[in-house]
Amino acid sequence: MQQHKEPSFTSTHFTCPSCEQLSEQAWFSTYADQIRNPAGLPLRIAGADLERLKANPQFPPEVRQQKGEYWDKVNRGEVFLDRWVPVHTNVFVAGMELSVCHACMQLAVWLGGKLVHPRLS
Ligand SMILES: [Zn+2]
Repeated sequence: MQQHKEPSFTSTHFTCPSCEQLSEQAWFSTYADQIRNPAGLPLRIAGADLERLKANPQFPPEVRQQKGEYWDKVNRGEVFLDRWVPVHTNVFVAGMELSVCHACMQLAVWLGGKLVHPRLS
């Protein structure tokens, strides 16, 4: 029977809130980078814009599929790690950490030492 160990800010080994496996967790600090696009707003591509992106012949089919899957996940409200352009910042987000499960690679968001995402069922 699978053991249960409550997710904890003070442990690297607990039951993952995503896959519910008892597994190793890697901890990450978080840094902030101010959004500097022309609108000054978080970037989201959805609806007709996303459909145009998914059909854009400028990109090879595998790139279109990858971009489509990425924005579908973001638009569903998923939170995940992704490689983006390198960022250089010294703005540290104090009191916010991420833990990432070695079993499923899903991340959890911790604020003030408390798990806030995903919510435990
Ligand atoms: Zn997991």
